[in-house]
Amino acid sequence: MPFVITDPCIGTKDSACVDVCPVDCIHPRKDEPEFATSSMLYIHPDECIDCGACVPACPVAAIYDSPDSTPASQKALIEANAVYRVGDASAVEKAEALVQAHMSSRADLMAVAPTERAAAHAR
Ligand code: SF4
Ligand code: SF4
Repeated sequence: MPFVITDPCIGTKDSACVDVCPVDCIHPRKDEPEFATSSMLYIHPDECIDCGACVPACPVAAIYDSPDSTPASQKALIEANAVYRVGDASAVEKAEALVQAHMSSRADLMAVAPTERAAAHAR
């Protein structure tokens, strides 16, 4: 079961997880053209080896250890992680559309500071 990045990454996007991932499955990296316009980062579900290194690296607790453990408020972003493929414009667009829809439908969470957002996921 792959790890999943959720909405505290939006507005944070510091790439700390990228730096510790041993299999380079978190994108876009800062050196990839999609980074500037991406609202958040994504974990490739087929490439993640479930090592857990990214979780303590994330300063805003945005990463859950499986789709099953991802709170209901974040379920739309499981799909965004699943469809994102760096270098594939269509996939990038689909993932971003899912993130934008999440941001619109969960304006309550977006109003919370990224550092406090994970604590609000269960509400
Ligand atoms: S769990 Fe490990 S392999 Fe998966 S995204 Fe995190 S650091 Fe990378
Ligand atoms: S460490 Fe957390 S906030 Fe930073 S890019 Fe990774 S998931 Fe996003």
